[in-house]
Amino acid sequence: KEISTRENNVAKIKVVVRKRPLNKKEISRKEDDIVTVDENALTVHEPKLKVDLTAYVEKHEFCFDAVLDEHVTNDEVYRVTVEPIIPIIFQRTKATCFAYGQTVHGSVVLLLISSSRNIFFISGSGKTFTMQPLPLRAAQDLIRFLHQPVYHSQRFKLWLSYFEIYGGKLFDLLSDRKKLCMREDGRQQVCIVGLQEFEVLDVQVVKEYIERGNAARSTGSTGANEESSRSHAILQLAIKKHPEIKESKRNNDGNESKSGKVVGKISFIDLAGSERGADTTDNDRQTRIEGAEINKSLLALKECIRALDNDQIHIPFRGSKLTEVLRDSFVGNSRTVMISCISPNAGSCEHTLNTLRYADRVK
Ligand code: ADP
Ligand code: MG
Repeated sequence: KEISTRENNVAKIKVVVRKRPLNKKEISRKEDDIVTVDENALTVHEPKLKVDLTAYVEKHEFCFDAVLDEHVTNDEVYRVTVEPIIPIIFQRTKATCFAYGQTVHGSVVLLLISSSRNIFFISGSGKTFTMQPLPLRAAQDLIRFLHQPVYHSQRFKLWLSYFEIYGGKLFDLLSDRKKLCMREDGRQQVCIVGLQEFEVLDVQVVKEYIERGNAARSTGSTGANEESSRSHAILQLAIKKHPEIKESKRNNDGNESKSGKVVGKISFIDLAGSERGADTTDNDRQTRIEGAEINKSLLALKECIRALDNDQIHIPFRGSKLTEVLRDSFVGNSRTVMISCISPNAGSCEHTLNTLRYADRVK
């Protein structure tokens, strides 16, 4: 009873914005913090110049389900975003938690403020910092639930998988970057052929899988960070119900008897840097293709979440690999949490506004 009441209280779509603190470099450059937070509203104070070069500030105000300022810890982020969803995973819910925002490594941005010319190197907005601890905390809570007699007696188990979408292709991060392909069965269930899933019994093991998967994320000649910012990393925790041994012997459906039936699941997605979508003008062909793919997937994602929010029957998941993979999380009893990460510094203003406008349109 209590769980079903709570289920109703968890919004279908939740958009949360997290502002990171100014980093050392930004402080040493005496950059302004241009983002102010007031409860669930925030204001971006955009520095601008008039034609005669006098400086002024243009204010942009936004409102979200929650706005977390630079003092908020990862634990609190968990409490606001994922924790409320945990109990309903056991009630046939498919949940998705995204981190969205700029990545930008080593890009040079020229900014004119008060007629002085400054060159800023823009840093990431905190997607990975925010997303990394969430699956571990979620696994911890899910395992605690599993130990409750009601779930234990129903033979519920926790399974983990971790893969990456890079340039529109799928790679298993827990089995030597094996290339994967996707198939749909007759019941609209998405199946990623060959994806390794691991049963996890304790949090330490979850931690090891996450670290192993992180180490396997795409790295190119330009360095790990640069490349991983061009891929979407998807970590899934699934609760499955396993048939009794006797029953499974009678069952000819090999797959189901071996791995159980998915009751509910939660996917954690560290999205490619949002500014990467704009890379479509890059001279490098590969970069351009990746940029186009990222752009496509972020647009498709937005469309799908909006369709969900409007209870549309047709969800336009075919728009990209990302949304196709997440198809089963967009139908039925689904929950979506979007965490938009923003940088506070003046040099990131344009990216910050883009990120907030994206989040605003999702809602
Ligand atoms: P992204 O994944 O969006 O590119 P990162 O998560 O890598 O960005 O964050 C960029 C840098 O800022 C990292 O060094 C990270 O540790 C730091 N950082 C991000 N968010 C916070 C925060 N809320 N508090 C403290 N440091 C943060
Ligand atoms: Mg990152």
